[in-house]
Amino acid sequence: MDPIERLSSLFEKFPGIGPRQARRFVQYLLASPSSSRGELSELIKRLGAETSQCKRCYRWFVKQSAKATGPADLCPICASASRDSSIIFVVEKDADIENVERSGFRGLYFVLGGTIPLASEDIPKHVRVLELLKRVQFDTAEKLKEIILGLSATTEGDHTRLILGEKLRESNIKISALGRGLSTGSELEYADPDTIASALSSRN
Ligand SMILES: [Zn+2]
Repeated sequence: MDPIERLSSLFEKFPGIGPRQARRFVQYLLASPSSSRGELSELIKRLGAETSQCKRCYRWFVKQSAKATGPADLCPICASASRDSSIIFVVEKDADIENVERSGFRGLYFVLGGTIPLASEDIPKHVRVLELLKRVQFDTAEKLKEIILGLSATTEGDHTRLILGEKLRESNIKISALGRGLSTGSELEYADPDTIASALSSRN
């Protein structure tokens, strides 16, 4: 396959990108100076070499320099001693965390990886329910008191909240959901920090 077709088909695999948009990306790259293409390919290579997935919350982060303190397999938030480890905010994806951080939340996180489809019998592999249960078990020994399920206000989000609520029931930890302010279907990734702060303070 020639590089134009090959790259188009790779871009098509990106979330939300169709064949026409994929073609436009390639056309854009063709018209760009070769230095921009070089920078892009260099950054993609560095993405693999310089990032790591946190062993505790599963978010992707840029590895710290050798000088930095803290365990190498934990992200800066999980490794920080100044975060409130009594609360875990469960989000669907990495991008949600950046937004919740702007709302002033200072607890810890867990990236679930997605929601559970209504029709599916089993929990999809990319949804980290087992990993969350393990994390809760481990953290309870420390001082975990509350889990906030910050999932999308969609039917799939509700379904996932229900399943997680059932599975976490025996843990005797308070399970809360975000309160008013986040309208049906709105996602954390797009909500503004004030709306998130308000939904956090009215959680139930
Ligand atoms: Zn982490």
